[in-house]
Amino acid sequence: MNTIQLLVGDEGNRTAVRRLLEEHYEVDTDRTVRKADLYLVDDRTFPEYHTDLSERVEQSHPVFCPVVLVRREANDVQISLPNPNEREDPVLVDDIVDAPLDRNLLFRRLDTLLVRRRQSKDLMHYVSKLEKSNASLKQFAYAASHDLQEPLRMVSSYLQLIERRYGDALDDDGEEFLEYAVDGAERMRDMIEGLLEYSRVDTRGEMMETVDLNRVLEDAIANLQIKIEEYDATITSDSLPSVEGDGGQLRQLIQNLLSNAIEYSGEDPPRIHVSAERVGSEWQISVRDDGIGIDPDDQNRIFDVFQRLHNHDEHPGTGIGLALCQRIVDRHDGRIWVDSTVGEGSTFTFTLPVAADPGP
Ligand code: ADP
Repeated sequence: MNTIQLLVGDEGNRTAVRRLLEEHYEVDTDRTVRKADLYLVDDRTFPEYHTDLSERVEQSHPVFCPVVLVRREANDVQISLPNPNEREDPVLVDDIVDAPLDRNLLFRRLDTLLVRRRQSKDLMHYVSKLEKSNASLKQFAYAASHDLQEPLRMVSSYLQLIERRYGDALDDDGEEFLEYAVDGAERMRDMIEGLLEYSRVDTRGEMMETVDLNRVLEDAIANLQIKIEEYDATITSDSLPSVEGDGGQLRQLIQNLLSNAIEYSGEDPPRIHVSAERVGSEWQISVRDDGIGIDPDDQNRIFDVFQRLHNHDEHPGTGIGLALCQRIVDRHDGRIWVDSTVGEGSTFTFTLPVAADPGP
């Protein structure tokens, strides 16, 4: 049952209000502000309780703790009440009811506020549970990938030793099996490194600062120079905005998208265009290619860890690139998605909030 603390004086008909409420709520009439789900105060007593109430509400932050003021017609209001037409700082009073109290109206208003309190409590509960499970997941991903490196190094180095020492003694089958084992170990190393990188997006991220995306694109293109030449790719771009972000991660994001656009280009030399459009309070940055495209059924899952649509022989890769993109965009409060038609090409778009105006 919800507890309402009644901070109404005798002049405010405390006994009558108490009786009115008692049937529906647990009523506390103590004179000092105590723990309750809602406070009912009247305009006479309000100045007296103001400081204690403010502290109490502040303490319960961020769980909503409602204060309702009873206003009596005959009396001059002794406090300044919020003006509904102006946006003000949060004020202590959440609702005002006029005396004489209309029973149904009063209950409806109190119940609405109590439901909001309940919801805000539930929300806080889930948020803290989520934070905990998120933290332990991060820890798990990091520990797993980090600790797997050591045994894998052992496998790799002993495979190399076998190759060096007994390579000559192996027949064709033996050589082939060894090759597969080495290849498997290498791929596993790449995947573990990818996972580590993935788990570090949040833990090892740099500070957010103003980043010029034109520079970021230049750096990404410079890093891909060899691949661009190998595929004879052409990359064009609009003028891009500056945003608030982690420069290194944004470079990684754009580089992954460009690298995929080149990798999955099909037969012809890839032509890729990077564009930027402002939509409301966000930038939409798109990387468009004219490559092989992606089946609609696969367009969501490619953003998951290790999800690939091709085997290793067709296209090398670990399937972590787009998951990393997703994670980086998440950290920047954005979204990422793909529009694509098989055989015609794909456009990967991600959003970033428009940088706040630094003001005069
Ligand atoms: P990887 O490229 O290492 O396999 P990604 O996470 O970067 O991993 O991509 C996942 C899958 O999504 C790829 O295996 C590929 O099948 C598909 N994909 C990504 N980008 C494109 C693109 N531009 N065009 C077509 N398919 C793509």
